[in-house]
Amino acid sequence: MPIRQLPQTLVSQIAAGEVVERPASVVKELLENAFDAGATRVEIDLEGGGRDLVRIRDDGGGIAREELPLALAPHATSKISRFEDLDTIATMGFRGEALASIASVSRLRMTSRVAGSDEAWVIEHEDDQESEPTPSSAPLGTSIEVRTLFYNTPARRRFLKSERAETSRVSEVVRVLGLSRPGVAIQLRSDGRTIVDFPAEDDPARRVAAVIGAGPDDRLLEVRGEAGDEADPSSLVSVWGLVGRPEDARPTSRQQRFVLNGRVIADRSLSHAVREAFRGLIEPSKHPVAALFMEMDPRRVDVNVHPAKTEVRFRESRPLFSLIKRSIEEALSKADLMPSIDLGGMAPSIETSASSLPSRNDMPGGSLPASGSGGGGRSGGGGGFTAGSVPRQANLGGNWSKDFDLAETRSQLEQPTESVMSSASTPLPRMLGAEEVLQVHNSFLITQDEEGLVVIDQHALHERVMYEKLKARMADGPLESQRLAVPAPLTLESVAVAVIEEIRPLLLELGIDIEASGPRSASVYAFPTLLFERKVDPVEFMEGLLERAASGEFGVQDREAALSEVLDMMSCKAAVKAGDRLTPKEIAELLELRRSIDRSTNCPHGRPTHLRIPIADLERRFGRSPS
Ligand code: ADP
Ligand code: MG
Repeated sequence: MPIRQLPQTLVSQIAAGEVVERPASVVKELLENAFDAGATRVEIDLEGGGRDLVRIRDDGGGIAREELPLALAPHATSKISRFEDLDTIATMGFRGEALASIASVSRLRMTSRVAGSDEAWVIEHEDDQESEPTPSSAPLGTSIEVRTLFYNTPARRRFLKSERAETSRVSEVVRVLGLSRPGVAIQLRSDGRTIVDFPAEDDPARRVAAVIGAGPDDRLLEVRGEAGDEADPSSLVSVWGLVGRPEDARPTSRQQRFVLNGRVIADRSLSHAVREAFRGLIEPSKHPVAALFMEMDPRRVDVNVHPAKTEVRFRESRPLFSLIKRSIEEALSKADLMPSIDLGGMAPSIETSASSLPSRNDMPGGSLPASGSGGGGRSGGGGGFTAGSVPRQANLGGNWSKDFDLAETRSQLEQPTESVMSSASTPLPRMLGAEEVLQVHNSFLITQDEEGLVVIDQHALHERVMYEKLKARMADGPLESQRLAVPAPLTLESVAVAVIEEIRPLLLELGIDIEASGPRSASVYAFPTLLFERKVDPVEFMEGLLERAASGEFGVQDREAALSEVLDMMSCKAAVKAGDRLTPKEIAELLELRRSIDRSTNCPHGRPTHLRIPIADLERRFGRSPS
């Protein structure tokens, strides 16, 4: 074939492939245009899942008669005029391609009226033909009808999914974009049935709750933070948002959303920051619920990376990453994270939540609210076990291993009964009310707090305490260890032997001295005192550890990951077991220790250490009206 210039329609149809994939992408582009036009209310109607019709009406600024044809022309935009404008882009669109692309693969009709004009004008586009604008009557704003999408590109039309599937994708797009503009009322109907109905909110928290709602919305925790150098305003970054409690984490990350400078974006490093902040509070297979709104100088981020603009490129992502991680960690540490036991049956009623959410009036797309009180949740009232001015026990800070070694006192007491009460000599000053703790089945501790009955998994809690203490202890130098009189020989797979070299420095810090002695063997020369005291077998422990590393269960390159993995195993082995009978003194010590650490509500694997049955639930279950 000779080389030739492609006709404009074909160019647009090809370009359409990048932005117009299905009805949901049409809705995305048109909804973003409505946002850019300053709409306060947008209505979207679908027929046949959007394959037959997408109609979108907004009350924004409109398009003047003489500009209507231009709006449909390729590479025609009112949003940028110079290359430099790309640096400070504040609108959703700027490529001037969406309308042209959509028009090239559908039958399009656009009606618009601008302020000051008492007439609306209509323009139609089909088969490469455009009508002259004709007068019509319509309210201020723009209405666009997109009919029979891909009628002229049958292969792509066949590619569309069922009506239901397309409708649900549209609904997802509308909900997610709705997150970025809480102040805009948005309605989506499909064949006359309302699917999304978002009222205009002055408090973005309500929109967030409607979009990512993890249950009753007062359960979301508020996140807020700022970073950067005051002297250099362009370095300032801020974040505001809401995150779900660890127990509300989901099996997918769909309930995790990021809005940067008013634009919904997907970014793996940000998801990673969220995950890091929740480390140890949720199980690895689950995803935290979060909606985070970030503001930063637009010059520090490039949005012109992807045709749909869902991905961005940060000039430097580290400051934002640390800000997010730190802000979420702060919110989590302020909150009472103890999960409730779901008693099923008569579920507790959901408290009215809207009014309890912190108020924010200045959000959508604009700058973040000034700092204010942290909010939401049930963090107030001291229902939890937060560290406070509890008199520290004498052994804390002394011999480090005693800090968490319950074994020390174990031999001293022979208690005939299975359940024990803590004695008067070891009061639990912050147990709020009763000081009694009951051990049941030698595995669980039962106590109470202000809100209800609390059940503690003794192993999980001790494990968490050990983990935190060991981790803190690592800062002061290598862990105390003992040399073996005779080195303990191990037989390993050769990959596991290779791992030794890689993590040897880390192991030495942890008090473990091990060296390869052959292609499939190694010897342990020293082992942590703590594990010795707990009668942990060095050979078994090291074989388990190295084989897990060799099979890629944790990354040996990543020091953080490897460290928490080894500490995890150490804590697990050294902690009291389910089935160990504890003396009252040990119980008191354990409960005391928990106050000195963060994240005591979950074990290092993210499983809960505590569960609470709220008194209100018990009252309901027993058919009593709450007092
Ligand atoms: P872009 O949004 O990248 O500028 P589009 O093809 O989506 O490109 O739109 C082209 C132009 O048409 C926009 O720049 C804007 O001026 C105008 N326009 C599109 N939709 C609307 C709308 N709903 N209200 C007002 N103007 C609109
Ligand atoms: Mg656009």
